[in-house]
Amino acid sequence: MEIEVSKYAGFCFGVERAINLVKSAAEKKSKLYTFGPLIHNPQVVENLESKGVKVINQLQEVEPNSTVVIRSHGVTKDYKKKLKQKNVDILDATCPYVKTAQKKAQYLYNNGYKVIIYGEKKHPEVKAIHSYTNYKGVVIENIDKFKIFDNVKKYGLVAQTTRSKKQFSILVAKYVENSKECVVFNTICNATFNRQQDAKKIAEKVDFMFVVGGKNSANTTKLYKIVKQIKPAEHIETADEINIDRIRDYDIIGITAGASTPEYLINDVINKIKKI
Ligand code: SF4
Repeated sequence: MEIEVSKYAGFCFGVERAINLVKSAAEKKSKLYTFGPLIHNPQVVENLESKGVKVINQLQEVEPNSTVVIRSHGVTKDYKKKLKQKNVDILDATCPYVKTAQKKAQYLYNNGYKVIIYGEKKHPEVKAIHSYTNYKGVVIENIDKFKIFDNVKKYGLVAQTTRSKKQFSILVAKYVENSKECVVFNTICNATFNRQQDAKKIAEKVDFMFVVGGKNSANTTKLYKIVKQIKPAEHIETADEINIDRIRDYDIIGITAGASTPEYLINDVINKIKKI
């Protein structure tokens, strides 16, 4: 049986960076907290917990003299301020690409632009970017919600890092057509696009596809939805979930994984299939 693994399977740059920062901090510090799971992968979160990294859900749970990690998708300005008031150490693992989106939004706001943020309102990354416009920016979730505002002469656009470039370009074109001044910062990161494109390419070639990653991971679930439209597929968290009888008769198996899936889980899947 042949196996084809996507070259984009597994950690993106921002997730890998966040995990490395937390792991090395865990070696030196005793009280280390992440507000919510560091990434959407239960196996990785469990492993970090065994190293003393505790997941909390309320700021009140933070003890004095501890370290709180800011996750790769960043936090709002207000949350950062509250953390500082608590007198704790902050380990900022915000992905540099997300930070750029925050800075560009702030720049646009400070320079009098009506800031348009193309993204998902409830996503923590978008909430954080929004806070950098003092909540005066407008979040547009999809291009049908395009809106022109009274007495606004200049627009400034940024996007959530995981959005589609194609859709963002359509939105940008609408603002260009309908305003005298429009500044655009392309804050979209290529990681998601590359991973999805490669998954599609592999799905075309293989008989069956495994998508490895947390069931609570939005980007892994999206990958699974994409490939299953092309070939039979299964979303699994670990190699233990592989039903050998289901794939025994196939010639080529494809494998991809979400941005929060560690390499060792992907390798476990590869090794299990190799033994068939
Ligand atoms: S998907 Fe891109 S922006 Fe988001 S954490 Fe990964 S590298 Fe950073």
